Amino acid sequence: MFRLNKKGNFEYYTIPSFEETGLVRHGFTTRRGGVSGGCYESMNLRFNCDDSRENVLENFRLAAEGLGMEPERLVLSKQVHEDIVRTVTEDDVGNGVARENRFDSADALITDKKNIPIVTLFADCVPLFFLDRRLGVIALAHSGWKGTVKRIGQKTVRKMKSDYGSRPEDILAAIGPSIQECHFEVGDDVAEIFINEFGKDTAVKYGDRYHVDMQRAIRLQLEEEGVSNIDDCGICTCCNSELLFSHRKTNGRRGNMGAFIELI
Ligand SMILES: [Zn+2]
Repeated sequence: MFRLNKKGNFEYYTIPSFEETGLVRHGFTTRRGGVSGGCYESMNLRFNCDDSRENVLENFRLAAEGLGMEPERLVLSKQVHEDIVRTVTEDDVGNGVARENRFDSADALITDKKNIPIVTLFADCVPLFFLDRRLGVIALAHSGWKGTVKRIGQKTVRKMKSDYGSRPEDILAAIGPSIQECHFEVGDDVAEIFINEFGKDTAVKYGDRYHVDMQRAIRLQLEEEGVSNIDDCGICTCCNSELLFSHRKTNGRRGNMGAFIELI
């Protein structure tokens, strides 16, 4: 279970199993605690929309400081619904927030370096957090339906193993707030892809329409890698659109929330 925390107006989730390690600062932001208005109210972390760049930068600053991180050091992903897991080093510090985003494709970020806060953005797609509590390796992945089918979560775990020597029993994984089966209605074509790839339980009929369970498909791919410590928060963005940004609920008129994690 994720825990909802409040610091003044700023509200964010944390993962108790990650906190207990003492190895990281981390959090998943909500709509609360920022400066944006309208459909971006208020903690919008989405650049390139009708919200002003100044607002978004101020929101990144407020979120980072609320989580105890240095805003100038944030390293932002480049989310293009692909399956590239990018290794982050000191050279990347500031990417995407303090300076331009130089990544071409980076739906997942991974590092074993301390004091480099990595960030991925969400509004229905599935946030994945990883921590190797033995070796001190962190990763974040953006797993929308395309990324889920491309198994970006599984590929992130494989990279933890191949590049850092992680053992599955040392990996903590967490599945953050995202659109759940209750609201993720899809066309038959998408449902068929999930059924073929992950089995019939990942696409369920509600009347004559299929709903996809991305979180189940993700748990399956993590379990295939031997990861069993998976905290699936079970929180639906679309069911909780007062607190969370949901693309589906708002037909795309929404901001972004952020998953943040940093080794300390
Ligand atoms: Zn829902």
